[in-house]
Amino acid sequence: MDLGKLIQERIRDVDDYPKPGVVFKDITPLLADHVAFAGVVDAIVNHHGRGTVDKIVGIEARGFILAAPVAYHFGAGFVPVRKKGKLPSRTHEETYDLEYGTETIEIHVDAFEPGDRVLIVDDVLATGGTARAAAELVRRGGGEVVGLSVLLELSFLHGRGKLGNLDVHSLVTV
Ligand code: IMP
Repeated sequence: MDLGKLIQERIRDVDDYPKPGVVFKDITPLLADHVAFAGVVDAIVNHHGRGTVDKIVGIEARGFILAAPVAYHFGAGFVPVRKKGKLPSRTHEETYDLEYGTETIEIHVDAFEPGDRVLIVDDVLATGGTARAAAELVRRGGGEVVGLSVLLELSFLHGRGKLGNLDVHSLVTV
């Protein structure tokens, strides 16, 4: 079966979540389908190719679920980007705007060796604020961002436009 079609079938629209007027893309049905889940992980690894990346950054929380198996199959290390206050050691932090208010995310200052090639993985690219902040954290930590891979890109929110010349790879775009 066509992977793009399978992904679209396994992502559920939830109306008015987390607040009225928002249609949330729920990936839990996809994760529960082992063919779809494995297909997504393989597609991300194959797009970049083993040996091209030293570390995979996963963004809390759903990004972790995809980034960890991608790191394993790449033979790369895994580095978490977390919401403020969750990482135990010294961190760099970045704050960015949400539709209402702001969000702050962090990374450990010693997460990378100088020049590490880093792929950022997340579930959904929406407005691009999270991905842009994560890329900035990687650069501040001494890593070289080689790209961003997401399962789903919501192109009507124009997140890609916020990410400059970053190589953005999405498995499905709506
Ligand atoms: P952005 O910063 O607006 O691009 O939002 C992307 C971040 O919010 C990612 O870390 C996603 O996990 C999360 N996100 C935004 N919209 C959705 C959605 O519809 N489904 C699942 N996650 C979402």
